Amino acid sequence: MKTGLSVGQAQSVVLAEARPLGPEVVATRDALGRVLAEPVDASRTLPPADNSAMDGFAVRADDVRDAAPERPVELPIAFEVAAGAQSQRPLGPGEAARIFTGAPLPDGADAVVRQEDADWNQERVRILLAAPPRANVRDAGEDVRAGDRVLDAGVPIRAAEIGMLAALGRTVLAVHQRPRVAILSSGDELVEPDASVHGGRIVSSNSYSLAAQCREVGADPVYLGIARDTREDIERRLRAGRLSDVLVSSAGVSVGDRDHMREVLEKLGCTLAFWGVQMKPGYPVAFGRFAEQGPLVFALPGNPVSAMVTFEQFVRPALRKLAGHRTLFRPTLRARLTHALTKSAGRLHFVRVALERRDGEVLASSTGSQSSGVLLSMNRAHGLLVFPADATEIAAGATASVQVLDPEFFMSDASGLE
Ligand code: AMP
Ligand code: MG
Repeated sequence: MKTGLSVGQAQSVVLAEARPLGPEVVATRDALGRVLAEPVDASRTLPPADNSAMDGFAVRADDVRDAAPERPVELPIAFEVAAGAQSQRPLGPGEAARIFTGAPLPDGADAVVRQEDADWNQERVRILLAAPPRANVRDAGEDVRAGDRVLDAGVPIRAAEIGMLAALGRTVLAVHQRPRVAILSSGDELVEPDASVHGGRIVSSNSYSLAAQCREVGADPVYLGIARDTREDIERRLRAGRLSDVLVSSAGVSVGDRDHMREVLEKLGCTLAFWGVQMKPGYPVAFGRFAEQGPLVFALPGNPVSAMVTFEQFVRPALRKLAGHRTLFRPTLRARLTHALTKSAGRLHFVRVALERRDGEVLASSTGSQSSGVLLSMNRAHGLLVFPADATEIAAGATASVQVLDPEFFMSDASGLE
């Protein structure tokens, strides 16, 4: 087991062990947020045929070449093509066909005149404007052609992908399974949120925040409850957790007399790859795995902020990888500090910062006490500012990299449009 890894080194160790979960078939309707486990090739051409982009008249462009308001070209209306219909016969020279948006262009026609550019009665139409070849025509295959690769494996499914899959007639598809994450809290002092906190009890808020972090990344949390600080209770609950894809515990992983988490994990056959990462908050974090096929194990520290920040750095990218994503990390941006930051060299600090857009740049300000027990510092944060391990000072007005946890500060209560 390694100790004292940098955050980046520890992330590499984790991601080397995380492999995308196998496929499952889901209804396209329910696939939002999932990741394609197979490429999708177009089984059909879209649109399947040349069709009209407008309500109007299908013509031969050559016939209306000289049309103008003062020199209308008059043509007989030979037939009508509605959307969803087929024209009964080709359009002959010197003829027009009434046509509606989405209706297939009859053979022989090569342009559509908008009805705004025509006068007509039952039998005849006066074309008031020339239409060049292909005018107001949507070409067959202008969207996709049968056989085209439309979506690659690994593509996250958004509303646009769901629409495309439906257009291609795909009502079911193969996506990566969603990771199931067993979450275990541990500590004699912990109680559930609705219990009395009399006598120094502390609410196990981690089980709530960590489960929500799982949901946020599309994983399914399963709650294993609160283990007492005994080897027996921890073991009993961890055994249940071994059936999941990922096991996340919090607390009991430091060096105190009652910190049994690592010992029990190893007893159950978990090989720990590392413990102790050069970061703050969150130094005492351990990672390992049960034998091939067994779950990845993250033993996170107990302090509420440490638990959330270590989840962000290690569990979240792993869960994204399991879910089939190729991009694993939060977006980062450069932000300008509104005040100086200092620390001693050695550990990378994740500083909880509020972000604000001003004059085309982003300003970052600490959200207050950075104690790992102060959850409020997370409530007010839009991101985690990276204060590098070796650095001891970032001056007011200097820029630093920020992991964006919440893009809310980018959003607006006004569209900005006229
Ligand atoms: P430990 O790692 O067991 O020493 O716990 C460190 C700190 O985190 C202690 O103050 C615990 O009370 C607190 N803590 C541990 N587990 C949780 C939890 N599930 N929710 C909130 N705080 C916790
Ligand atoms: Mg404890």
